[in-house]
Amino acid sequence: MNVQKGTATYAVDPAPQTVLPVEGSDLLFPIRRVYCVGRNFAAHAIEMGSDPNREPPFFFQKNPNNLLVGRDFPYPVASNDVHHEIEMVVALKKGGDSIPVEKALDYVYGYGVGLDMTRRDLQGIAKDTGRPWEVGKAFEDSAPCTPLFRAEKIGHPANGAVTLDVNGVRKQTGDLNQMIWKVPEMISYLSGLFTLAPGDIIFAGTPSGVGPVKRGDQMVGRVEGVGTLEVRVV
Ligand code: MN
Repeated sequence: MNVQKGTATYAVDPAPQTVLPVEGSDLLFPIRRVYCVGRNFAAHAIEMGSDPNREPPFFFQKNPNNLLVGRDFPYPVASNDVHHEIEMVVALKKGGDSIPVEKALDYVYGYGVGLDMTRRDLQGIAKDTGRPWEVGKAFEDSAPCTPLFRAEKIGHPANGAVTLDVNGVRKQTGDLNQMIWKVPEMISYLSGLFTLAPGDIIFAGTPSGVGPVKRGDQMVGRVEGVGTLEVRVV
């Protein structure tokens, strides 16, 4: 039953380190935590029935091993209303507490394009009952993501279209410049709540147009200046 790895003996087989590939290299980016920003585009906040005024950002988390890279998205159990949310993903190379806004981009390793897949029916029940969101957000394979694109190559995109097509039909459209909380602000704010560390990633919020998917759908998400994510629902 015990598992020997190196000099350690584990009581059960230890989980593998979740990684994202780094585009244009053999490097693997080790994932520590997955943070997600809620309601970061005014039009999406309105479509979800919220006040789009600039209230403080709020965050939830997915599990590192919810990330899905280079595979189809299996339609999850326990839901009949699974929604797409296309988002830019921010990957941190440094961590800390109380990171000032003006220094925050120095902490960014790179960016990716991700989908915050959501069991909207279960999230809705959680909202109605004041319960946590994990059942709606942190399920298996709920975070499809591209490899990471290094900031030293692509810079720090602050403008650019964020779009999602399903079966060739445009469903979501926004622009990075419409984010209520910009990347440096979300890093700074988050670092006031948690100790950030290398390997943490942040899903930066989705523009309006979220909606359901079904098996067989082909999703193509783009963040201009970052990359393209193609995922099939199976
Ligand atoms: Mn989201």
